Amino acid sequence: MLNFPHSVIVLAETLERRWKSYRDTGDFDIFVEFTLSLNGLTEHLNRQHLPGLVRACQELENTALSLFADRSMHPIPLDQANAIERQLSIILAELHRHETPAVLARRVFDSPEEASEDTWNRPRRVLIVSRAGHPWTVSLAEQLNFFGFTPEQIRWGLQPEDEEPPLAIAFIPDQEGRAYPPDAVAAVMALRTRFPTSYFYCLSVPSNLQSIVLLQRAGADACVPVGNKVSDVLSRILDLVETSEQEMHRVLIVEDSATAIAHIRRSLSQHGIDSRAINDPRILLEAAADYRPDAILMDMYMPFCTGVEVTSALRQIPEYQSLPVIYLSSETDIVQQVEALRLGGDQFLTKPVNPIILASVVKTKIERYREMLYSGQHDSLTGLFNHSTSKGQIERLLQSALPDGKLVVAMIDIDRFKMVNDTFGHPVGDQVIRSLAWLLRGRLRNTDLIGRYGGEEFILALPDADFVRVVSLLDQIREDFAALPHAHAQGTLRVTFSCGIAALPDYATTSALIAAADEALLEAKRNGRNRLVLAPAANHLATGKKQ
Ligand code: GH3
Ligand code: MG
Ligand code: MG
Ligand code: MG
Repeated sequence: MLNFPHSVIVLAETLERRWKSYRDTGDFDIFVEFTLSLNGLTEHLNRQHLPGLVRACQELENTALSLFADRSMHPIPLDQANAIERQLSIILAELHRHETPAVLARRVFDSPEEASEDTWNRPRRVLIVSRAGHPWTVSLAEQLNFFGFTPEQIRWGLQPEDEEPPLAIAFIPDQEGRAYPPDAVAAVMALRTRFPTSYFYCLSVPSNLQSIVLLQRAGADACVPVGNKVSDVLSRILDLVETSEQEMHRVLIVEDSATAIAHIRRSLSQHGIDSRAINDPRILLEAAADYRPDAILMDMYMPFCTGVEVTSALRQIPEYQSLPVIYLSSETDIVQQVEALRLGGDQFLTKPVNPIILASVVKTKIERYREMLYSGQHDSLTGLFNHSTSKGQIERLLQSALPDGKLVVAMIDIDRFKMVNDTFGHPVGDQVIRSLAWLLRGRLRNTDLIGRYGGEEFILALPDADFVRVVSLLDQIREDFAALPHAHAQGTLRVTFSCGIAALPDYATTSALIAAADEALLEAKRNGRNRLVLAPAANHLATGKKQ
């Protein structure tokens, strides 16, 4: 079940309180506070990767922002207030509904192992809406099952009995590539009203704006174009459950005025953005290395040097070449601003900055920056970590596991993969690689590392888990992968993989863990493939086996 951190509940309570107080007073400033805390909540839920709830919050934000422009509109008319209250109560009800199970869950699992067992078996219900016997329904349901979801099928126009909102709903129209008929659009809308926080995928949507707009209005989150395969939908659904918590946005403020710092930090924190401030640019490098910001807010005039000088110096250091720098100044001279941007800044904001504009500029810059970092760290075929990032992440997991923690490293290589390519073509080979990536993503926990180590080689690192349990889990994945049919032009084929496993404390450095898992993998290949081999335990290593 969803496990909301306490902070979300606190934000929700603040939001509720501010709304009540606005309804009592009709005071515009309280309305502004309400909008700010709503924005903070949206941001928080976004980090938890809850697109359904984020969507509901964003809609409410839009409603609130439309009432923002003019102080004299407040208190707002009763019907508008009621409309906001309806939207708000849906969000709050949804948040509170998850509050109790989360608390219970914490009580039930008193050891971390039991808790991690739970995350391996999360129920992930996906509703498929289609006519009875639609051929896609069967294959989508099969694949969802395979990748660890619980599919449930219903006919168009019917409502599921279960009150629990599904993770996602996939709509499959009767006729591919035609605009959804009005009763189908109405069915989407009816489910949207019932499940405001689930993620809605409409399949086979023709590429015309009118169809897309109508479906979006009815509540679709994503319109999957005609011609996309069931596997594309699956990949999107998998994205929903990936890494539940995004890291908080971090901003380093370089500013010599304590008042300005206080004002900026307050605005940022109201929008869920973490910040740290330094008042002397000479310690910028130390602060950046320690805090690892996603963006810098840079004052223009400071005692030792100007913001422009600091920024152009910063740009000389490869690590910080693309870190967003946003200038803050009371500067209004356009020539100076252009010069400041030319020397390496990304944007110019004039003090005092409107808190909403500040937060939205900061967020946009950070999102772009993170996207750029993401594509440098991830493999484009599978979305998994690439080779060098995987190694770095294993090192990180190892450092937090040492000295007495647990960490298992596994190396997986697809068997006789060259033959798949040679016989069925490279695109079929690619799909096999992707399916294995999905299977791993669907079966492992969010805290486990999954990397694409080479062409058809994967690396896994599983922290805080019992060795025997990990081995049996991987063996189950091996068995299930071997049974998975991969489509090709003439029918389906089956593929297997081999796996080598090594663990702490037998191997206690990243390179020793990887080398031992790799050696075990080769052993698995020599022993006939489609099997797991464990690296020899430390006490069997006395003969100086090479690492
Ligand atoms: P073994 O069981 O010993 O692992 O045999 P194998 O055929 O899998 O081993 P080998 O390393 O000889 O072949 C791996 C093949 O994987 C060779 C390469 O063309 C193919 N390959 C590597 N990357 C990709 C990719 O991204 N897509 C596809 N389709 N094939 C790839
Ligand atoms: Mg200054
Ligand atoms: Mg290989
Ligand atoms: Mg291979």
